[in-house]
Amino acid sequence: MTQVFKFGGASIRDADAIRHLGRLLAHFPERPLVVVVSAMGKTTNALEALLAAARGNDPDDYRDRLERLRRDHLATVEALFGASADPVAQRVEALIADLDRRHRAHAGRERPFHYDQTVCFGELLSTTIVSAWLDEVGLTTEWRDARELIVTDDTHQEANVDWAATAERVRGLDVEDGRIRVTQGFIGGTAKGASTTLGREGSDYTAAILAHCLAAEGVTIWKDVPGLFNADPRRFDNAVQFGRISFSEAIELAWHGATVIHPKTLAPLQQKAIPLTVRSFLTLEAPGSTIGGDAFHDGDVPAFMLREEQTLLEIRPHDFAFMDEARQHDILGRLVTAGLHAGLIDAGAMRLSLCLDSHPARLEPLVASLCADFAVVRRDDLTLLTVRYPTASLLAGLSEGREVLAERRNATTAQYLFHSRECPATWHIPA
Ligand code: ASP
Ligand code: MG
Repeated sequence: MTQVFKFGGASIRDADAIRHLGRLLAHFPERPLVVVVSAMGKTTNALEALLAAARGNDPDDYRDRLERLRRDHLATVEALFGASADPVAQRVEALIADLDRRHRAHAGRERPFHYDQTVCFGELLSTTIVSAWLDEVGLTTEWRDARELIVTDDTHQEANVDWAATAERVRGLDVEDGRIRVTQGFIGGTAKGASTTLGREGSDYTAAILAHCLAAEGVTIWKDVPGLFNADPRRFDNAVQFGRISFSEAIELAWHGATVIHPKTLAPLQQKAIPLTVRSFLTLEAPGSTIGGDAFHDGDVPAFMLREEQTLLEIRPHDFAFMDEARQHDILGRLVTAGLHAGLIDAGAMRLSLCLDSHPARLEPLVASLCADFAVVRRDDLTLLTVRYPTASLLAGLSEGREVLAERRNATTAQYLFHSRECPATWHIPA
């Protein structure tokens, strides 16, 4: 059964990293195997800067940036292939020339279209080098152009997948001929042949799309971290790794602010019950964390999510009227119009409390509109802490010594709103 592996920019950032990738893949002889690769290191950012230089009418800056992109990729080819670098270097040169040509041809077009025709070259370059290197070390590959596999509409920079057409194109990618299929993450193409992109960090989504269409056995996302954690390890000094959680739990965590895996990536996998494993490309022996179909392991360890820069609005009708459904409907409608998400909603007989991102451009017009019809009390500089599967002693420990400005609890989730000034820079999960 087919496996889909995805490697991000960090895992192929230079020649050493690509060599390491070759050694890693040698440990996985099972086929069919589809390998989805991002652009090298920060190449996508470099391409965005190149585009900005071109559109900002700075031809010298554009030239410099194109030359740097060319030199960086050629240096990697040189370091990998040494004396036999020529054929791969020629392919890199051809891609750079094509990038330059297409970029010029589309310079007069609207930015999102121009972006997609330019930025897609990051992944075309990386996969060309990676695929050639894998062949070099005896892992035979077939390079496939994702713009011919992933069919999308023409919503440039955030293209929507045409699932039926993609399933048709992807058919046969899992043919059992021993070869590894290497293709690009993040990019697709319209039925008419224009390049498209799926949104920044979209390579995980590409792996999920291909796995869905191939009814793959599993997807592995290889990262420079050992797996998924129950709290952001940069903010919690004793965060622990999940062994296994369900799709719905992963979506729940993302909803409450965890940067686990984007729900867009999870949905196509959840639909076909294809497990997704996050593993470290640095420590092969570590098993990683798996997001799978059953809820059996949810709650094995509680999870913690922080949302910072929050504002609490306590909204009351004038004249002691009830905060009935009609008023709630009116207020939540205004939230939708403002494009704001409420991380916490709590209703009383004469009050609706909303915890919102302190996004000035969106928040201020909303507050102005609410103040015209309601009595509004506002508090800024707050932090929302969400805990999944909390225990009573855990919650007591977390709220101790802090004023709780709002809270909400149900069987699986507890949320507390604190003053940010009362929150530590680094949290410690109490025993
Ligand atoms: N290279 C693209 C980006 O940096 C896609 C990805 O890495 O997932 O956004
Ligand atoms: Mg990337």
